[in-house]
Amino acid sequence: MLPLETVREFVLDRCPAGTPVSVPVADALGLVTASKIISAEAIPQFANTAMDGFAVRSADVVDAPCNLRVVETIAAGHAPQVTVGPGEASRIMTGATIPPGADAVVMVERTSLVIPSSTANPNRTAADGPASGDGTAEIVRVEVSVPPGNHVRPVGDDLHAGTVVFGVGTELTAGHLGVLCSLGMTEVEVFPRLRVGVLSTGDELVDDGSPLRPGQIRDSNRRTLLALAHRADVVPVDLGLSPDDPDEIEAAITTGVQTCDAIVTSGGVSMGDFDYVKAVLDRIGDMRWMQVAIKPAKPLAFGTVGDVPVFGLPGNPVSSMVSFELFARPGLRSMMGHPDPVRSPVTATAAEDLPRRSDGKTHFMRVLATPSDGGVEVRSAGGQGSHMLWAMAKANALAVVPDGDGVRAGGPVDVLLLD
Ligand code: AMP
Ligand code: MG
Repeated sequence: MLPLETVREFVLDRCPAGTPVSVPVADALGLVTASKIISAEAIPQFANTAMDGFAVRSADVVDAPCNLRVVETIAAGHAPQVTVGPGEASRIMTGATIPPGADAVVMVERTSLVIPSSTANPNRTAADGPASGDGTAEIVRVEVSVPPGNHVRPVGDDLHAGTVVFGVGTELTAGHLGVLCSLGMTEVEVFPRLRVGVLSTGDELVDDGSPLRPGQIRDSNRRTLLALAHRADVVPVDLGLSPDDPDEIEAAITTGVQTCDAIVTSGGVSMGDFDYVKAVLDRIGDMRWMQVAIKPAKPLAFGTVGDVPVFGLPGNPVSSMVSFELFARPGLRSMMGHPDPVRSPVTATAAEDLPRRSDGKTHFMRVLATPSDGGVEVRSAGGQGSHMLWAMAKANALAVVPDGDGVRAGGPVDVLLLD
């Protein structure tokens, strides 16, 4: 048996990053930057107000309360037309440009309107805007003094022009896409999104909803692996279901290699008489068949057909998921330019015993991780057999239990928090 790290290194060495491309920002979620993003502009580009209120000269309100003459109303998206002079203020809405002359904003809640008696309405507030119709200059009463810059968002408050906003190797999340849009970018240079083919193999498998004949089971791995691929930010490609027939397996993999950047198969890589996936890969590719010192997911066939990596995962449903997490996901992320393609474990506390037998392997136990006391605690998600998909579905983490007799309740344990 080979140590997990040795096998993973072997895999990652054969999963180089693709050639950078420019893609629309709209298509870039989950992709990784291939060049530095440098801001061509400051954000914000103009000083604006963080509050609805009144733009004032701070020197005018040092002795507040005081009255100021309202000279303009400035909405977001509209340029101010009037300079605020001594004894004056402009009503201003969040996001609107600070007018010339003003250097601070008093929030509307700290003001009141001085209503001429002819238009007095006890229910009006300053936020209602000018009282109309009587031609009287509007007066606002400012209740508090404010320092220069009060509630003003200056130019470049978020970021300055010429800043390295994101370095190479940044995964673009929702917030990153927003920043690119704020900077006026419509395209971004990234490592390309992979197309990843998923193939199920096994004579026993059916996927058409028909009643099962004796010995048949339904194909669950393909849907699961396509979903894991989707979560890994690649384009999943369904390569269907192949019986345990070397020619059919070869045909399916050959089709996949022509249309995909990587392929994931399940089944047919163990010691059985009809495990043809490894034989086929041996014939048409440069393949390594490995026994990894882990449980579940001991067998792994990995190699390249042409320059397309092929991950031959074991067929047991839990094994295929764990194998995807430990080998395929890191390999695919490496191809998409992730500088740290392997998920990092966090240290949790075992909320109950996590027993195991010593067998020379690292065990990946299906657990439920929950927050506790500022940390994370884990308990078993149920049956630990590699065919027990239900417990895997209920788990949100894999506990990494090293060789030995397990972890006692209260003890520390590394866990991989799954998506
Ligand atoms: P294999 O790796 O082909 O020896 O398969 C190991 C176990 O996984 C067997 O019990 C198979 O029936 C089961 N299996 C293989 N492929 C799938 C699949 N696509 N969906 C569900 N179970 C599968
Ligand atoms: Mg099989």
